[in-house]
Amino acid sequence: MSESEPGLPERVPDDWAGQPVPAGPPEPATAPVPGTPLASPSNSPLDPVKGFGVTFRTMFKPVVTEDYPRNPRPPASRYHGRHQLNRHPDGLEKCVGCELCAWACPADAIFVEGADNTEEARFSPGERYAKNYQINYLRCIGCGLCIEACPTRSLTMTNEYELADDERQRLIWTKDMLLAPLADGMEQPPHPMRLGDEQDYYANGPDFLRDLETRQAGGAR
Ligand code: SF4
Ligand code: SF4
Repeated sequence: MSESEPGLPERVPDDWAGQPVPAGPPEPATAPVPGTPLASPSNSPLDPVKGFGVTFRTMFKPVVTEDYPRNPRPPASRYHGRHQLNRHPDGLEKCVGCELCAWACPADAIFVEGADNTEEARFSPGERYAKNYQINYLRCIGCGLCIEACPTRSLTMTNEYELADDERQRLIWTKDMLLAPLADGMEQPPHPMRLGDEQDYYANGPDFLRDLETRQAGGAR
């Protein structure tokens, strides 16, 4: 008999010719015959009724499915939906074009191009504003790191989650789509700073907004 290579099965002897062929593995004694039902582990006559038990129990439980999109359920208040670029109470933009949100984004979904404000054309208090601002919702994973990075609270996230589309270009939101609408008392930029100097916007801006809301509530009565 010849020797086998290490790690390989034993070689067939050279003088096998004429020898009886070794028998293969035995056939299973209980091989299923095609067309015959498989044997059940239990043959209780109640089995079909038990099967419907799940159906009956579920019929009396509260329905958990949602009637979307006819009746969408509101998400949690801190849900991370689409972004919004906010404004100061006089309508100037809070975004100063610093690009910190773009640097913080792990998905490289934000593009910011800053530009200088001038006294003739002012869009935000301070030196600079975002001339071009885009968020690519094909990339955004809704992590919220960008809003944490924003130093002016310009960028926040709304509860709006209906962002699906069948056109890739429409999922790149531009600045005009992201800017908050003008509320009462706001003026469309560019315009001069109405609240004082740059410091007043950050130090007194919230007070100004509260006063404005109080005045508007008084006028509405
Ligand atoms: S939520 Fe996250 S992924 Fe989306 S733009 Fe902001 S940082 Fe980028
Ligand atoms: S949104 Fe905020 S972080 Fe982003 S560029 Fe504007 S000010 Fe800077």
